[in-house]
Amino acid sequence: MSGMLASTAAAVGIIDKAVGIAKKLADDGGELDKATLKLELASLMTELASAKMEVVTTQMLLFDAEQKNKKLEEQLKDKHSYTFNDGLYWKEGDETAFCPKCYEVDKVQTHMVYARAVGQYSASWYCNNCRTSIYPNSA
Ligand SMILES: [Zn+2]
Repeated sequence: MSGMLASTAAAVGIIDKAVGIAKKLADDGGELDKATLKLELASLMTELASAKMEVVTTQMLLFDAEQKNKKLEEQLKDKHSYTFNDGLYWKEGDETAFCPKCYEVDKVQTHMVYARAVGQYSASWYCNNCRTSIYPNSA
């Protein structure tokens, strides 16, 4: 954001300078000799080219910022659709639990694998990503 403000400020400064040159040309145009006129026009063109470059930089920074903003918005929206229950994360309409360690520590949503209770072993959810096992109370 600070880069964007800096390049916008630079562009405004350059445009101000260019406007100054154009004003001078408009005011004294008739009195200036051809060589001076040519020189003033050349510096006007240089200033305009610099302004264009600053605007292109601003455009690039703005695009990056927009992409970042979009990603954050999606993350925020996604976060609302998960609920934490019984030591596991659940998504509405999804019967498979998500790993709490992956979700909270690594910020990734990883489906777990359910293992039914067998003999002395109670039912559990297992994460293939981080190898966490959760033994929910309600299972
Ligand atoms: Zn995990």
